[in-house]
Amino acid sequence: MKNSRILIVDDDPNSCFLIERMLHSEGYENTLVANSGAEALEIANREHLDLILLDLMMPQIDGYEVCRRLKQNEHLWDIPVIVVTARKSSQALKQSFDVGAIDYIAKPVDLIELIARTESALRTKKSYDELLSQNQNLERLNRDLERVNTTDELTGLKNVRYFWGYIETEVKKFRRLKYPLSLIMGDIDDFKQINDTYGHLVGDAVLKQSGEIFLKNLRDYDLVARYGGEEFAFVLVNTDINEGAVVAEKIREAIGRQEIRIGDAVIQYTISLGVATLEPKAPEEHISSYFLVDRADKALYAAKRGGKNRIALAD
Ligand SMILES: [Mg+2]
Repeated sequence: MKNSRILIVDDDPNSCFLIERMLHSEGYENTLVANSGAEALEIANREHLDLILLDLMMPQIDGYEVCRRLKQNEHLWDIPVIVVTARKSSQALKQSFDVGAIDYIAKPVDLIELIARTESALRTKKSYDELLSQNQNLERLNRDLERVNTTDELTGLKNVRYFWGYIETEVKKFRRLKYPLSLIMGDIDDFKQINDTYGHLVGDAVLKQSGEIFLKNLRDYDLVARYGGEEFAFVLVNTDINEGAVVAEKIREAIGRQEIRIGDAVIQYTISLGVATLEPKAPEEHISSYFLVDRADKALYAAKRGGKNRIALAD
């Protein structure tokens, strides 16, 4: 605390000198001096300060005004201000607290009082700063945790947990807004064979590459999640079955164009996709995320049975 940076503000240089001497005598040597309100504000904007000892009675910008401007500044509002003044009226005291001062020292300044109030202000500031930084750490930790909980580690896409929360919310919105809501379930064809032939690292590369292709071919407001294994779910808000089919076909074609090179071998792979849509006129018993997933899943298996590398639409 002794290395705290303290700004002494007083239009009387002798008064500044006296306070500075007192602080130095107690080991507070990191001091700065300003002889006007304008200079005080200029220094506060330029230097990092831990405390300001502020004279109230100054020409032009007085202590009240300096304090008011500090407290209104989003970068400076948290510097503690102790007012130092000869005016011992309770009105001055009230006004000082009103503009944001945290304490009050009367002139002529008494050494013990000065040091006691300085230390107290610095302690309060220190524990406030610690609390603030703990809070920020907690918030960061929470955000990290939230991200880890909702992200698929391999592909970086959202995971199945996030998917269910998301589609639940969208189905709720559908009930109110009645925009068509489409869901595509996609599954890499013969993925087991890729794994068995080339190994799991190549399988992983296929999944990762697929994730990148999906993101490139979707609109900003579409969601793609890894549903599990080599299966992916795409939620397309405000998208009818025809538009959903267009998106599915675009994804199918983009995946078909991909290659992975392992030494001399070039691996190509394909995807099958099933599309289902909640249409605005859907009967009540159809308005559920489970039912939508089930219909898209059935369409996906129809695409597989139909010969793979194709899309199918739910009935
Ligand atoms: Mg003065």
